[in-house]
Amino acid sequence: MLEESEARRSILEYTSPGAVIWVPLELALGQVLAQDIVGAMDSPVFDNSGMDGYAVKAAEAKEGATLRVGKIVQAAGGDLGLVCGEGEAIRIFTGAVLPDGTDAVVMQEDVEREGDLIRIMEPVEPGENIRWRGSDVCAGQKLLSRGEIMTPTRIGLLASQGIPEVPVHGKPLVQVVTTGDELVEPGAPLIPGEIYNSNSPMLQAAVEKAGGIGAVSHACDDLAELKAVLSRALAVADIVVIAGGVSVGERDFVKEALTELGVVTEFWRVRVKPGKPFLFGRHPDGTLVFGLPGNPVSAYVTFSLFVIPVIRKMLGYDVKVDGVGLGDVSGIAAEPMSNPGDRPHYLRGVCEGGRVRLSGTQQSHAIFGLSRANCLIRLGPGQEVVPGEMLSGYGI
Ligand code: AMP
Ligand code: MG
Repeated sequence: MLEESEARRSILEYTSPGAVIWVPLELALGQVLAQDIVGAMDSPVFDNSGMDGYAVKAAEAKEGATLRVGKIVQAAGGDLGLVCGEGEAIRIFTGAVLPDGTDAVVMQEDVEREGDLIRIMEPVEPGENIRWRGSDVCAGQKLLSRGEIMTPTRIGLLASQGIPEVPVHGKPLVQVVTTGDELVEPGAPLIPGEIYNSNSPMLQAAVEKAGGIGAVSHACDDLAELKAVLSRALAVADIVVIAGGVSVGERDFVKEALTELGVVTEFWRVRVKPGKPFLFGRHPDGTLVFGLPGNPVSAYVTFSLFVIPVIRKMLGYDVKVDGVGLGDVSGIAAEPMSNPGDRPHYLRGVCEGGRVRLSGTQQSHAIFGLSRANCLIRLGPGQEVVPGEMLSGYGI
């Protein structure tokens, strides 16, 4: 049986960042830049006033000096081409073009105005209250580097430069295929023996949270139906994630269906709990195929450990084999924990205020405990944890 890290290494070797596409700024949040971005222009793009007040020659604006103010006001917007003569001041507002012949702005609170005269109460230094052209960004300057993640403020920066779109790695389309005769969609009535399909919306949401585009479909435990559903999924998706039907039961048709559709199984079974019957395969057209155990907890844990890193790498994130790209958490064990088994066990935990406790029952169908958990804690085979011990895990 493959070790978890070997499994992830093998999967990541077959994963490459998605094609570079240009997306409008409003769709770029969280996306990874595929190229450096340089400044398109100086910012500010012209010398302008940082205050509402009067543009002056600093040398004339001594304390107590009186200056004449013309009738025309320079507000933010079109440049009126005003020129300030000797002994004059020009009424100006924040963001307005600095008139020729001025080199400072006196705040309106620092003058006394009478008719067309102002008296300077507070003198100004040359450059005071002026935002010089290029003082923030110079044209041609590197603004963002390839690999950096688009945040709201970086989106604002590029908008301020007049840049409407950015090159990023396209989001992978992930088709989630659930399997099972017993499954019913939420909203429909159940008959005895049936259960609701929780993996479908949970995994679709997990795909979206990881940054991919999720779609869902379902097949009953019937080889022909499963092949039909999988073949449509393989035709459109970058990644196909199958939940359930991947074990050794007589009605587990996933492996057979995949083989008949030309998917090569790279490995089946990983030494990890939950999630032993995990499958990874590849279709000749490049689609990556994952078979997850059907139990919701096992499905979510294996999705987190093996599929999220793939989605992140396709988006252009720098993914390490020894991490899963979910963010790390650490804290002190608040209770004893143990793994009597011979596989590494990912326990669902709650990390709060520097302390880690278990999140309810740890059975692989127990979705309530999973829903309360915010991290996965890895215990090695035979590991015993005593309260107070330092633990680390992955955020979920
Ligand atoms: P399987 O891997 O198909 O043998 O399924 C293992 C367990 O997970 C069974 O109890 C299934 O009923 C359950 N299961 C499988 N798929 C889903 C699903 N989509 N939603 C909820 N439970 C599921
Ligand atoms: Mg099943």
